Amino acid sequence: MNILSLASINLEQLQHSMKSWGLPAFRAKQILDWRNKGILDLSAMKNIPNSVKDALLEHIQVQPLKLVSKQKSTDGTRKYLFALQRDNQSLKHIETVFIPEESRGTVCISSQAGCVLDCPFCHTGTQKFEGNLTAAEIMAQVLAVKYDLLQDPMKHDLHHKVTHIVYMGMGEPLANEVEVFQSLELLMANDYLNLSRRRITLSTSGLVPQIERLGQDSPVNLAISLHTAINEKRNTLVPINIKHDLSRLRQCLNTYPLAKSRHITMEYVMLAGVNDRQEDLDALVQFINPERERINLIRFNSYPGSDYQGSATSVINNFAKSLISKGIRATVRRSRGDDIMAACGQLKTAKQGL
Ligand code: SF4
Repeated sequence: MNILSLASINLEQLQHSMKSWGLPAFRAKQILDWRNKGILDLSAMKNIPNSVKDALLEHIQVQPLKLVSKQKSTDGTRKYLFALQRDNQSLKHIETVFIPEESRGTVCISSQAGCVLDCPFCHTGTQKFEGNLTAAEIMAQVLAVKYDLLQDPMKHDLHHKVTHIVYMGMGEPLANEVEVFQSLELLMANDYLNLSRRRITLSTSGLVPQIERLGQDSPVNLAISLHTAINEKRNTLVPINIKHDLSRLRQCLNTYPLAKSRHITMEYVMLAGVNDRQEDLDALVQFINPERERINLIRFNSYPGSDYQGSATSVINNFAKSLISKGIRATVRRSRGDDIMAACGQLKTAKQGL
């Protein structure tokens, strides 16, 4: 799909296109100022004449997503269900999550509708894969959250602005390399969201050549869905490991260009009797480079039909303590949005199959 979209166009492209459509190019900056605030609805762009809006509608896709529903968790987390607005295709749905904290507001974005990679414990992986998102569809998720925060600000002390982005929603971002790399450029562009690479985190299951290219192109913060440091076990838990095993991953992570005082985060979902034993701990201690990496232990969020159980809290805490005693930074992730199924590995669109 190669159409111009307001959500992914830059100033130069829009100026150039507007000239070619016989429209005043100086309007491009005004239009993108609205867009950058999260406003894609042309009717809300008060300083733009109707004649320009009508002409734009003929030439450019204005809104790639349609909001289907929004849920708010008691902890302030918001989960959005969007339908992709594509012509001649059955409706595909994706989810986006906003996680407000006191000092930051993080948008967790999806990069694919479903996921091809089939990690057996993951809720998203059980959903039928329905395709890659375009850069416009990725950016439109961020814009939609910004728009929602304008209309419905956060209560209390929670952050009401988008300050951080994590590619941790539905899909494996590096399996959609071209569009994801373009979206990274847009997030960091001076004339778009102007976010520093330190505020963006991409989470991958470990596609080694793509991680290397990410390091060369847009070295944002990296998170790896590790889940075990035992090769044979990882072949089952994270099947991409069969293609890019732990030794290849190790080499690639050793040279990933980190921003100053940043670490690679190793995500480790704690599964009872699967990856929470002494042998798992020993392998993890062996694998980690404590100078450059830290571990984020994640409580498993069970979902109906899952074959896995989460480790008990005491097991998780002891695992964390043992890692720390070996000089490895380890944290237990606080789960956000549990009550609306917005926590890690829980994103699966309720509308699947429609
Ligand atoms: S854990 Fe990530 S890569 Fe694996 S199936 Fe789920 S979304 Fe895909």
